[in-house]
Amino acid sequence: MNHERSRALYDRALSVMPGGVNSSVRATIPYPVFIERGEGGHVIDADGNRYVDWVMGYGPLLYGHDVPESVTAAIQSAAADGPMYGAPTEVEVEHAEFLARHVPSVEQVRFVNSGTEATVSAVRLARGYTGRDKVVIMQGGYHGAQESTLVEGDADDPSPSTAGVPEEFAKHTLPVPFNDPEAAREVFEEHGEDIAAVLVEPILANMGIVMPVDGYHETLRELCDEHGSLLVFDEVITGFRVGGLSCAQGKFGVTPDVTTFGKIVGGGFPVGAIGGRAEIIESFTPSGDVFQAGTFSGHPVTMAAGKAYLEYAAEHDVYEHVNDLGRRLRKGITEICADQAPSYTVVGTDSLFKTIFTREGPARSDLGECCTAGCRQDPDCPRYEYCPKTGADVARAGTDRWERVFRQEMKERGILLTGNQFESQFVSYAHTDEDVEETLEAYKHAL
Ligand code: PMP
Repeated sequence: MNHERSRALYDRALSVMPGGVNSSVRATIPYPVFIERGEGGHVIDADGNRYVDWVMGYGPLLYGHDVPESVTAAIQSAAADGPMYGAPTEVEVEHAEFLARHVPSVEQVRFVNSGTEATVSAVRLARGYTGRDKVVIMQGGYHGAQESTLVEGDADDPSPSTAGVPEEFAKHTLPVPFNDPEAAREVFEEHGEDIAAVLVEPILANMGIVMPVDGYHETLRELCDEHGSLLVFDEVITGFRVGGLSCAQGKFGVTPDVTTFGKIVGGGFPVGAIGGRAEIIESFTPSGDVFQAGTFSGHPVTMAAGKAYLEYAAEHDVYEHVNDLGRRLRKGITEICADQAPSYTVVGTDSLFKTIFTREGPARSDLGECCTAGCRQDPDCPRYEYCPKTGADVARAGTDRWERVFRQEMKERGILLTGNQFESQFVSYAHTDEDVEETLEAYKHAL
């Protein structure tokens, strides 16, 4: 494949943008392909190369690159009316009503402009509502580029995970390993009275894909109830992707106090949202005393796109299609791995999939439901012991090989995957059986 123009654009970008990109994960090795346009489940780059695209904007593009006509019409009409006003519009109310109708934890919603802004606001909300300072996060979890969660280490010794965050800030954040109920109990025993919230992705989707073990979220729910802390599910990725319209909280049957959204909820435009019980969400100004505001929040074009997007999903077989293709991809890759890379683990559920280059464990002796229908962390699965349970398990995998060798091989075969071992990949409604076949063929060669 010729990538001349992408290379030239990257050279120019490096002169005027730090690292040549506007979001760190896009700086793939050795340089990113610059995209010219999308078409269904594919993208075409600046050199005219076509790829099957499993990046899908890192999650928002549930319909791929061609949105349903009703969505296009809603976007064009909202844009033509004038992009925004700084005053409320009917479509915000309708979109909030949709979320309240479908997501178990949501009675009220505040819309913002990114997933990061949603989690920043959710942390401030939890602190304001409870009058406490500390937040519990999961090691390997991701909640956007924000001070309270860019923290590593453990609850006894938290430290900033990036330059620019004061040590003093990090002291208020308590990282614990995902899927470890004992560690969660311990942190509550020690700090229970100071914990404003537990912030957790229902599925770690920025660190491989790590599914919760049976009972884990229930334990978090109980601990929060016992200690008067808020359980916050960060559904920026899982929202309206995993578990259909009721989101991951519907799938797992655990209702958080507060939910953060992003990605799909904006129909491909910048968005975030914080939803939850009215009594809690009303703590935001102007009804409450936790300050929150934004010039672009509830942007009419975003709201129109997001509302039309979700309404389309409510009326069509969208989740059946994407989940079916997700299952077929996972099954196909599982079979290829069993043959060619038996220690690797296929992870994911619904329309999420990823191959973790785990280095241990027996060859999968049965290609059971667990890794294909959607990982359930089933203790009867022959690979249960080796299936990643924490962020650290994924970090120990062959991340370099994935990033420097495997992804390049796939790209050169016309399959675009996310830039590293950690980010999930996404199936869209526009993807087809042929895309799956082509992708599996490429896996066979690349692996
Ligand atoms: N939370 C989660 C779970 C995410 O996956 C992301 C982004 N991938 C964010 C928050 C931040 O969202 P944004 O990039 O829109 O700021």
